[in-house]
Amino acid sequence: MRYQDSAEQSAEFLRLALPLMSRQRAGLHPISYAIWYEYVSGTNAALRAGVDERLRTDGSLDDAATHELYQKHVAEINEDVARQLAAGFQKVMADMSLSAAQAGDKASEFGNALGKLSADLAPAGADEGVTAVLTLTRDMQGSIVMLKSRLDESRNEIEQLRSEVVKARSEALADGLTGLVNRRGFEIAINACLGARGENDVGPSLLMADIDHFKQVNDTYGHVFGDKVLRAVAQILQDNVKGKDTAARYGGEEFVVLLPDTPLEGARQLAERIRGIVERCRIKRSSDQGAVANITVSLGAASFRAGERATDFIARADAALYTSKTSGRNRVTVAET
Ligand code: GH3
Ligand code: MG
Ligand code: MG
Repeated sequence: MRYQDSAEQSAEFLRLALPLMSRQRAGLHPISYAIWYEYVSGTNAALRAGVDERLRTDGSLDDAATHELYQKHVAEINEDVARQLAAGFQKVMADMSLSAAQAGDKASEFGNALGKLSADLAPAGADEGVTAVLTLTRDMQGSIVMLKSRLDESRNEIEQLRSEVVKARSEALADGLTGLVNRRGFEIAINACLGARGENDVGPSLLMADIDHFKQVNDTYGHVFGDKVLRAVAQILQDNVKGKDTAARYGGEEFVVLLPDTPLEGARQLAERIRGIVERCRIKRSSDQGAVANITVSLGAASFRAGERATDFIARADAALYTSKTSGRNRVTVAET
C-alpha cells in the first residue's frame, strides 16, 4: 500500500504542506494537495527531485507544472491515498476548530468574570476602563465565533475535496468511450496484482482481444457505428468478468482482461465464451434499425510465468492474439506456459 501514515502523521504532513502549497501559482486543488503531501512526507524521491527542479527553474509551480508532476510521479494515487489525505485534512481542521472553540470559551469566561468584576466594583455603572475591556472581550468572542464557523465551512469544503480526489482519480483511469478502465488503469492493476502475488498462487492470466477488420467496419458503416461496436464489445467483456477481474480498453479496438486468480484453462474457456458471444451479437445501426453487423474478435490468452516482467507477460498474450489473427481471426490462441 502506498500510504500507511497514521491520522496524526498525515495531519502533520498536511500542516507542513499547506504553507508550501499556498506559495505556488497553482490553485489549491486536490492535485496540488497530493503533490505537496508526497513532497513533505519524503516517500517519493522522484517527485521531490522533480518539484525541486521546477522550483529552481521557474520559482514556483503553476497548474500545468503541477499536473505534469502529478501525472509523472503520483498518478497511481489510489483510494487509500485519497482517504488518508482527507483524514489528514479533517484532523487539521478539527484541531483548529477545537482550539477556536476553546479560545471562544475562555474569552467568554473572561468576559463574564470581567462583567461580574465591574458590577462588584461599580454597582451604579461600570468604570470606563472596565467597559472598554468588556467591549474588547465581546469583540474577541465575536471574532472567535466567526473563525469557528469559517473553520466549519472549510471542513465541509475538505469533505468535498475528498470526493473530488476520488472522482479525479477514477476519471483519470477510465476510458471515456466505453467506461472500462483505460490502459493506465490496467497497468496499475497488473502491477498491483503481480506485486501482491504469492509464490504458490494460481494465475494471474491475461486475455488480449482485438476486433477483427475493424477498419473495414468503420469504412463501411462510419465511425459513429464503429464507436457503438466498441461500446458493445466493452459491455460484453464487462458482463463476463467478475470480482477481482479487470476488463480494460488497451488501445483503439484492442482490449485486455486481467484475471488475478484464474489458471490458463479457465482463461481459455472465458476467451472462448467471449468470442462466441461477440460472434452471435447483432449490433444495429441507429440510422437504419434493420441493418446489423457481424462483428468478431480474435483473442490471445496467457498465464503468468513466475518471475517474468509484466511487459513480457503482456507481450506473450499479445503474441498469442497475433497468432489468432494470422491463422484466420475469430479464434482463441493460448500462449505456451
Ligand atoms: P485486424 O483484424 O487485423 O485487427 O484489422 P483491423 O482493421 O481491425 O486493424 P487496424 O489496426 O488496421 O485498424 C484498426 C482501426 O480501428 C483503425 C482505427 O480507425 C479504428 N479505431 C481505433 N480507435 C477507434 C475509435 O475510438 N472509434 C472508432 N470508430 N474507430 C477506432
Ligand atoms: Mg483489429
Ligand atoms: Mg488493433
